[in-house]
Amino acid sequence: MDLGLEGVAAEEAELLKRNVLFSRLEELKAWARSNSLWPLTFGLACCAIEMMGTSGSHYDADRFGVFFRASPRQADVMIVSGTVTKKMAPILRRLYDQMAEPRWVIAMGSCATAGGPYVRSYSVVKGVDQIVPVDVYIPGCPPTPVALIYGIQKLQAKIRTEARTGRRVKDDERPLRAADSAV
Ligand code: SF4
Repeated sequence: MDLGLEGVAAEEAELLKRNVLFSRLEELKAWARSNSLWPLTFGLACCAIEMMGTSGSHYDADRFGVFFRASPRQADVMIVSGTVTKKMAPILRRLYDQMAEPRWVIAMGSCATAGGPYVRSYSVVKGVDQIVPVDVYIPGCPPTPVALIYGIQKLQAKIRTEARTGRRVKDDERPLRAADSAV
């Protein structure tokens, strides 16, 4: 069948619409990264039990491309799941430093976010963001696996948005501190 030049052009345009994806390289990389997050196998307290449950067969975090890795060299996400004691803080920082860039941190639960029930304890850090930069905060004591999956999806969206806009996205769940109200 002879379509003629216009017919061929229209057919090509239709094929392009259906089969070709236009994107910037940065956005493509962010899309790939956001769909293959590899958290460090690292738990600090009771929240870690919920984190383990998230990767089990019922909640199946694997379907979001989330695979836990035993080495910080292979991980790009740190899920801080539990109470951060002052004794543990330098070790946590060292593990973070051993992770390759780009890397992200999820503060899971009220202990990691702001000290939780131990906020008055002399031995507990009042928020892991005093040691490492946090990308997503998940409230709760403990947050459920569903809440952690929601946090992971927020991180995925953040990675893609930052690649598209070139700007850092702040988490609106970040707790207000005394220093914030003084500004
Ligand atoms: S937030 Fe609650 S559940 Fe999580 S580590 Fe702290 S005390 Fe345990």
